[in-house]
Amino acid sequence: MTELLPGLYQIPVPIPYPLKTVNLYLLKGKEEVALVDTALGTRAARGSLELALAELGLCFSDVKAVLLTHHHPDHYGLSGFFEAQGARVYLHEEELLRGHLFWKDRERFRERSLRLFLEGGMPLSVLEGIEEEMAKTYERVHPPQNPIPLQDGQTLEVAGFRLRVVWTPGHADGHVVFLAEEGWMLGGDLLLERVSPNIGLWAYTRENPLEDFLRSLDKVAEVAPQVVFAGHFGPVRDPKARAKELRAHHEARLSALLALLEEPKTPWDLSLALFPGDLTPAQRRFAFAETLAHLEYLRHQGLLTRQGQPLLYARA
Ligand SMILES: [Zn+2]
Ligand SMILES: [Zn+2]
Repeated sequence: MTELLPGLYQIPVPIPYPLKTVNLYLLKGKEEVALVDTALGTRAARGSLELALAELGLCFSDVKAVLLTHHHPDHYGLSGFFEAQGARVYLHEEELLRGHLFWKDRERFRERSLRLFLEGGMPLSVLEGIEEEMAKTYERVHPPQNPIPLQDGQTLEVAGFRLRVVWTPGHADGHVVFLAEEGWMLGGDLLLERVSPNIGLWAYTRENPLEDFLRSLDKVAEVAPQVVFAGHFGPVRDPKARAKELRAHHEARLSALLALLEEPKTPWDLSLALFPGDLTPAQRRFAFAETLAHLEYLRHQGLLTRQGQPLLYARA
């Protein structure tokens, strides 16, 4: 655990994913303790979080507010656990009918998800692997019962801090960042130091996540935080430059996709070409959704058409 500023602590917590840890942020005011993001409900995560709280003389039930940057399991997983201990849980309103429901009501999007993968050309063997991994994830995610909706532009007074909520969709529909008056920002997965955050189109997401994300990058440049304390890895010290790099990365990927479309192809085949190598079913799932997000972006631009079953994309 690191004290970044008076009353602001970074707590890295282990997660069973390639990124290895998620950064939670603890806000400690005179009257209240709040947590930004919650990690996944594994024994290792709970243990390391419990130890970090104990270092400050705190226990789980001292956390009175949980602010979620988005609904992904490594950020949202233990939010229901904290709610049961008495915390109020905040989540952007756009997540409530999408990402939050995805966890709360497993059946709701299941059929639509399967259809999206199958029609996109994904082989059944991969889909089975995905189903297995998802079942495991569901066991580790504890949705809150009564999340309080956050709105873009709203100011939260929490644990002695004044934080402005900035809606930054793309990586997740209801992704938000929390901007402090002093110019630092808690950035969730919007800007990460070493990797490009996954931008995926899923059965429950808005129709053009990549466009959302590119707009969100512009928004960050406008807001111009001095430093972004991110959901994974270290702080982003030059957010504007990182936003520019990420934009360039997506532009290169869009060009690569167009070049691959000499003839019509399925999203699955394109995802294999864009992300070659031996990936786990979970990684294949992200690669597929990321490919689909880029295809849909190009289609909305009028550069591609989409047809039939299986789904085929072609140059317009
Ligand atoms: Zn995420
Ligand atoms: Zn994350």
